[in-house]
Amino acid sequence: MLLEGKTIIVTGGNSGIGQAIVMAAAAEGANVVVDYVVHPEATASELLEITDAGGKAVGIDADVSKIEDLQKMVDFAVSSFGSLDVIVNNAGVETRTSVLDTTEEQYEHVMDVNLKSAFFGTQFAAKQFIKQGGGGLVINISSVHEDWPMPGNAAYCVSKGGTRMLTRTAGVELGPHGVRVVNVAPGAVATPINTATMNDPTELKKLDAAIPLGRMAQSSEIADTVVFLASDKAAYMTATTVFIDGGIMQSSVGL
Ligand code: BGC
Repeated sequence: MLLEGKTIIVTGGNSGIGQAIVMAAAAEGANVVVDYVVHPEATASELLEITDAGGKAVGIDADVSKIEDLQKMVDFAVSSFGSLDVIVNNAGVETRTSVLDTTEEQYEHVMDVNLKSAFFGTQFAAKQFIKQGGGGLVINISSVHEDWPMPGNAAYCVSKGGTRMLTRTAGVELGPHGVRVVNVAPGAVATPINTATMNDPTELKKLDAAIPLGRMAQSSEIADTVVFLASDKAAYMTATTVFIDGGIMQSSVGL
Protein backbone atom coordinates (compact mmCIF):
# COMPACT_ATOMS: atom_id res chain seq x y z
CA MET A 1 0.00 0.00 0.00
CA LEU A 2 1.25 3.44 -0.99
CA LEU A 3 0.72 5.27 2.32
CA GLU A 4 1.21 2.48 4.87
CA GLY A 5 2.02 3.95 8.30
CA LYS A 6 1.90 7.59 7.18
CA THR A 7 -0.22 10.00 9.24
CA ILE A 8 -2.20 12.48 7.16
CA ILE A 9 -4.50 15.35 8.18
CA VAL A 10 -7.25 16.35 5.74
CA THR A 11 -9.05 19.62 6.52
CA GLY A 12 -12.68 19.81 5.43
CA GLY A 13 -12.46 16.02 5.35
CA ASN A 14 -16.12 15.08 5.59
CA SER A 15 -17.44 16.26 2.23
CA GLY A 16 -16.52 16.74 -1.43
CA ILE A 17 -12.87 16.48 -2.43
CA GLY A 18 -11.74 16.23 1.21
CA GLN A 19 -13.89 13.19 1.84
CA ALA A 20 -12.58 11.49 -1.29
CA ILE A 21 -9.00 12.15 -0.15
CA VAL A 22 -9.77 10.70 3.28
CA MET A 23 -11.22 7.51 1.80
CA ALA A 24 -8.41 7.09 -0.76
CA ALA A 25 -5.67 7.67 1.85
CA ALA A 26 -7.27 5.21 4.30
CA ALA A 27 -7.53 2.60 1.54
CA GLU A 28 -3.79 3.02 0.95
CA GLY A 29 -2.99 2.30 4.61
CA ALA A 30 -2.63 5.83 6.01
CA ASN A 31 -3.58 6.90 9.54
CA VAL A 32 -6.12 9.61 8.74
CA VAL A 33 -7.14 12.64 10.79
CA VAL A 34 -10.47 13.96 9.50
CA ASP A 35 -10.96 17.64 10.32
CA TYR A 36 -14.48 19.08 10.06
CA VAL A 37 -16.67 21.91 11.44
CA VAL A 38 -20.16 20.96 10.32
CA HIS A 39 -22.08 17.69 9.90
CA PRO A 40 -20.53 15.58 12.69
CA GLU A 41 -22.83 12.73 11.58
CA ALA A 42 -21.14 12.65 8.16
CA THR A 43 -17.76 12.39 9.89
CA ALA A 44 -19.02 9.62 12.19
CA SER A 45 -20.25 7.46 9.30
CA GLU A 46 -17.04 8.10 7.35
CA LEU A 47 -14.90 7.01 10.33
CA LEU A 48 -17.05 3.92 10.81
CA GLU A 49 -16.71 2.94 7.16
CA ILE A 50 -12.91 3.22 7.40
CA THR A 51 -12.55 1.31 10.66
CA ASP A 52 -15.01 -1.39 9.51
CA ALA A 53 -12.72 -1.95 6.52
CA GLY A 54 -9.71 -2.31 8.85
CA GLY A 55 -8.38 1.24 8.35
CA LYS A 56 -7.30 3.84 10.90
CA ALA A 57 -9.01 7.22 11.22
CA VAL A 58 -9.97 9.75 13.88
CA GLY A 59 -12.07 12.91 13.66
CA ILE A 60 -11.53 16.39 15.10
CA ASP A 61 -13.88 19.34 15.20
CA ALA A 62 -11.47 22.22 14.44
CA ASP A 63 -12.22 25.51 12.68
CA VAL A 64 -9.33 26.07 10.25
CA SER A 65 -9.97 29.81 10.15
CA LYS A 66 -8.75 29.98 13.80
CA ILE A 67 -5.06 29.44 14.36
CA GLU A 68 -5.52 27.94 17.83
CA ASP A 69 -7.74 25.27 16.26
CA LEU A 70 -5.09 24.53 13.62
CA GLN A 71 -2.49 23.97 16.34
CA LYS A 72 -4.97 21.77 18.24
CA MET A 73 -5.47 19.72 15.05
CA VAL A 74 -1.73 19.15 14.51
CA ASP A 75 -1.26 18.23 18.20
CA PHE A 76 -4.23 15.83 17.99
CA ALA A 77 -2.70 14.05 14.98
CA VAL A 78 0.57 13.58 16.87
CA SER A 79 -1.09 12.41 20.08
CA SER A 80 -3.32 10.00 18.11
CA PHE A 81 -0.68 8.43 15.86
CA GLY A 82 2.75 9.44 17.23
CA SER A 83 3.87 11.76 14.41
CA LEU A 84 2.68 13.67 11.35
CA ASP A 85 3.72 13.06 7.72
CA VAL A 86 1.25 14.97 5.54
CA ILE A 87 -1.22 17.85 5.92
CA VAL A 88 -3.79 18.46 3.19
CA ASN A 89 -5.13 22.03 3.45
CA ASN A 90 -8.37 21.31 1.64
CA ALA A 91 -11.16 23.23 3.41
CA GLY A 92 -12.51 25.94 1.15
CA VAL A 93 -15.46 28.25 0.52
CA GLU A 94 -16.55 30.66 -2.20
CA THR A 95 -19.12 33.46 -2.33
CA ARG A 96 -19.63 33.84 -6.09
CA THR A 97 -19.58 37.62 -5.72
CA SER A 98 -17.84 40.21 -7.89
CA VAL A 99 -15.23 42.82 -6.97
CA LEU A 100 -18.03 45.40 -6.85
CA ASP A 101 -20.38 43.36 -4.67
CA THR A 102 -18.16 41.52 -2.18
CA THR A 103 -18.60 42.73 1.40
CA GLU A 104 -15.80 42.96 3.96
CA GLU A 105 -17.39 40.08 5.86
CA GLN A 106 -17.50 37.86 2.76
CA TYR A 107 -13.92 38.77 1.86
CA GLU A 108 -12.61 37.98 5.34
CA HIS A 109 -14.49 34.68 5.53
CA VAL A 110 -13.12 33.46 2.20
CA MET A 111 -9.57 34.59 2.97
CA ASP A 112 -9.61 33.08 6.47
CA VAL A 113 -11.00 29.68 5.44
CA ASN A 114 -9.04 29.34 2.19
CA LEU A 115 -5.74 31.17 2.66
CA LYS A 116 -5.01 31.98 6.30
CA SER A 117 -5.79 28.35 7.15
CA ALA A 118 -3.36 27.09 4.50
CA PHE A 119 -0.68 29.54 5.66
CA PHE A 120 -0.83 28.61 9.33
CA GLY A 121 -1.62 24.95 8.61
CA THR A 122 1.64 24.93 6.63
CA GLN A 123 3.48 26.71 9.44
CA PHE A 124 2.30 24.45 12.26
CA ALA A 125 2.75 21.24 10.28
CA ALA A 126 6.22 22.34 9.13
CA LYS A 127 7.28 23.09 12.72
CA GLN A 128 6.16 19.59 13.66
CA PHE A 129 8.00 18.03 10.67
CA ILE A 130 11.21 19.87 11.60
CA LYS A 131 10.87 18.86 15.26
CA GLN A 132 10.43 15.20 14.30
CA GLY A 133 13.14 15.23 11.60
CA GLY A 134 12.80 13.28 8.37
CA GLY A 135 10.84 15.85 6.35
CA GLY A 136 7.15 16.06 5.58
CA LEU A 137 4.62 17.21 3.02
CA VAL A 138 2.06 19.99 2.70
CA ILE A 139 -0.56 19.68 -0.04
CA ASN A 140 -2.74 22.73 -0.62
CA ILE A 141 -5.94 22.13 -2.55
CA SER A 142 -6.00 25.19 -4.77
CA SER A 143 -7.95 25.67 -8.00
CA VAL A 144 -7.46 26.53 -11.66
CA HIS A 145 -8.46 29.96 -10.32
CA GLU A 146 -5.06 30.35 -8.67
CA ASP A 147 -4.06 31.50 -12.14
CA TRP A 148 -7.20 31.99 -14.17
CA PRO A 149 -9.68 34.78 -13.35
CA MET A 150 -13.25 33.75 -12.57
CA PRO A 151 -15.38 36.90 -12.97
CA GLY A 152 -18.03 36.94 -10.25
CA ASN A 153 -15.92 34.93 -7.77
CA ALA A 154 -13.39 37.60 -6.86
CA ALA A 155 -12.40 36.84 -3.26
CA TYR A 156 -12.07 33.14 -4.08
CA CYS A 157 -9.66 33.91 -6.94
CA VAL A 158 -7.61 36.21 -4.69
CA SER A 159 -7.39 33.49 -2.04
CA LYS A 160 -6.27 30.87 -4.56
CA GLY A 161 -3.74 33.26 -6.12
CA GLY A 162 -2.34 33.67 -2.59
CA THR A 163 -2.24 29.89 -2.17
CA ARG A 164 -0.20 29.64 -5.36
CA MET A 165 2.46 31.99 -3.97
CA LEU A 166 2.30 30.41 -0.50
CA THR A 167 3.22 27.06 -2.03
CA ARG A 168 6.08 28.47 -4.03
CA THR A 169 7.52 30.53 -1.17
CA ALA A 170 7.08 27.86 1.51
CA GLY A 171 8.42 25.20 -0.87
CA VAL A 172 11.61 27.21 -1.36
CA GLU A 173 12.00 28.09 2.35
CA LEU A 174 11.28 24.60 3.63
CA GLY A 175 13.07 22.51 0.99
CA PRO A 176 16.34 22.48 2.98
CA HIS A 177 14.38 20.86 5.85
CA GLY A 178 13.14 18.09 3.55
CA VAL A 179 9.63 19.54 3.71
CA ARG A 180 7.80 19.56 0.37
CA VAL A 181 4.88 21.87 -0.49
CA VAL A 182 2.66 21.18 -3.51
CA ASN A 183 -0.59 22.66 -4.84
CA VAL A 184 -3.27 20.52 -6.43
CA ALA A 185 -5.46 22.68 -8.68
CA PRO A 186 -8.74 21.08 -9.76
CA GLY A 187 -11.06 22.51 -12.39
CA ALA A 188 -14.79 21.89 -12.04
CA VAL A 189 -15.48 18.95 -9.73
CA ALA A 190 -18.86 17.35 -8.93
CA THR A 191 -18.97 18.43 -5.25
CA PRO A 192 -21.33 20.50 -3.07
CA ILE A 193 -19.45 23.74 -4.00
CA ASN A 194 -20.86 23.31 -7.55
CA THR A 195 -24.41 22.27 -6.60
CA ALA A 196 -26.01 25.35 -8.16
CA THR A 197 -24.34 24.67 -11.53
CA MET A 198 -25.13 20.96 -11.44
CA ASN A 199 -28.80 21.71 -10.75
CA ASP A 200 -29.06 24.12 -13.68
CA PRO A 201 -29.10 22.15 -16.98
CA THR A 202 -28.25 25.22 -19.10
CA GLU A 203 -25.26 26.18 -16.93
CA LEU A 204 -24.07 22.58 -16.75
CA LYS A 205 -24.22 22.20 -20.54
CA LYS A 206 -22.21 25.41 -20.93
CA LEU A 207 -19.62 24.20 -18.42
CA ASP A 208 -19.28 20.74 -20.00
CA ALA A 209 -18.87 22.36 -23.44
CA ALA A 210 -15.97 24.48 -22.11
CA ILE A 211 -14.11 21.42 -20.80
CA PRO A 212 -12.12 19.61 -23.53
CA LEU A 213 -12.80 16.27 -21.80
CA GLY A 214 -16.50 17.18 -21.85
CA ARG A 215 -17.40 16.63 -18.20
CA MET A 216 -16.73 17.67 -14.61
CA ALA A 217 -14.22 15.67 -12.57
CA GLN A 218 -15.22 13.21 -9.88
CA SER A 219 -13.69 13.85 -6.43
CA SER A 220 -11.94 10.48 -6.59
CA GLU A 221 -9.96 11.68 -9.61
CA ILE A 222 -8.50 14.49 -7.50
CA ALA A 223 -7.94 12.16 -4.53
CA ASP A 224 -5.92 9.71 -6.66
CA THR A 225 -3.43 12.46 -7.49
CA VAL A 226 -3.20 13.50 -3.83
CA VAL A 227 -2.38 9.89 -2.88
CA PHE A 228 0.37 9.80 -5.51
CA LEU A 229 1.81 13.12 -4.24
CA ALA A 230 1.72 11.88 -0.64
CA SER A 231 3.57 8.70 -1.57
CA ASP A 232 7.31 8.26 -1.90
CA LYS A 233 6.85 8.16 -5.69
CA ALA A 234 6.54 11.98 -5.76
CA ALA A 235 9.60 12.63 -3.57
CA TYR A 236 11.14 15.19 -5.97
CA MET A 237 8.07 17.40 -6.42
CA THR A 238 7.89 20.67 -4.52
CA ALA A 239 7.04 24.40 -4.85
CA THR A 240 4.77 23.76 -7.81
CA THR A 241 1.17 23.13 -8.86
CA VAL A 242 -0.40 20.04 -10.39
CA PHE A 243 -3.45 21.02 -12.48
CA ILE A 244 -6.28 18.47 -12.89
CA ASP A 245 -8.85 20.28 -14.98
CA GLY A 246 -9.82 18.23 -18.05
CA GLY A 247 -8.00 20.88 -20.10
CA ILE A 248 -10.38 23.73 -19.20
CA MET A 249 -7.65 26.32 -18.69
CA GLN A 250 -6.35 25.83 -22.22
CA SER A 251 -9.79 25.81 -23.86
CA SER A 252 -10.92 28.66 -26.09
CA VAL A 253 -14.61 27.84 -25.44
CA GLY A 254 -15.70 30.47 -22.90
CA LEU A 255 -17.69 29.69 -19.78
C1 BGC B 1 -14.67 26.61 -8.25
C2 BGC B 1 -15.94 26.25 -8.98
C3 BGC B 1 -15.74 26.37 -10.48
C4 BGC B 1 -14.52 25.62 -10.93
C5 BGC B 1 -14.21 25.76 -12.42
C6 BGC B 1 -13.53 25.81 -8.80
O1 BGC B 1 -12.35 26.15 -8.14
O2 BGC B 1 -14.83 26.33 -6.87
O3 BGC B 1 -16.97 27.10 -8.55
O4 BGC B 1 -16.86 25.81 -11.16
O5 BGC B 1 -13.40 26.08 -10.17
O6 BGC B 1 -14.26 27.08 -12.86
